[in-house]
Amino acid sequence: MRILVVEDEEAIAEALAHILTKNKYLVDTCYDGESGYDNAMTGIYDLIILDIMLPGMNGLDILCGIRKNGISCPVLLLTAKDEISDKVKGLDSGADDYLTKPFAMEELLARIRSLSRRTDHAINDNTLSYSDITLNLQTYELSCGGNSLALGLKEFSIMEYLLNNPNKVISKEKMIEKIWGYDSDAEYNNVEVYISFLRKKLRHIHSVTSIKTVRGVGYRLEES
Ligand code: CA
Repeated sequence: MRILVVEDEEAIAEALAHILTKNKYLVDTCYDGESGYDNAMTGIYDLIILDIMLPGMNGLDILCGIRKNGISCPVLLLTAKDEISDKVKGLDSGADDYLTKPFAMEELLARIRSLSRRTDHAINDNTLSYSDITLNLQTYELSCGGNSLALGLKEFSIMEYLLNNPNKVISKEKMIEKIWGYDSDAEYNNVEVYISFLRKKLRHIHSVTSIKTVRGVGYRLEES
């Protein structure tokens, strides 16, 4: 799951990025309104954490702009105590939730889990399932029957993406944007390597689920 953090206070932005990465989220950080808006408009994020007071474009303008352009991912607003009216405006403009600064990281993580439960299909008790496999979103374990294996961050993120889009062809470009970030220099080769790791792990836990190569396009998670 890829999260965009738009926050101009660098200490807060970095603390957020640190905590989120530790909790196996992929994170991009922007420190001003314009770059926040440009990043949000790529449409690759599963959730956006958006500060309201930002240099350049403010958080509410970003929110209105992306909603107008059809970006529908959950947005969690960060507000200061004296910005109550902005909070109301934010919720009216399509924000899904807000947190007042200062907040406890534990609460932020709980809000993120709750917001992602609303959007992920087939999600139940912090797991994602398809066919005979289950991915635990808290322990990062992939299991099938009584067998399970822990996944690394990239493997976990790719499997989470596949499980959210079973039976759909996902192009390698899309996979790179989503997992490595839209301005990364990752290549097809990187994707292929991780897909081969995941295939080995699926075999290891004796799953009938497989990641099929769709030649010239990408991959599809399916039951074989
Ligand atoms: Ca700010």
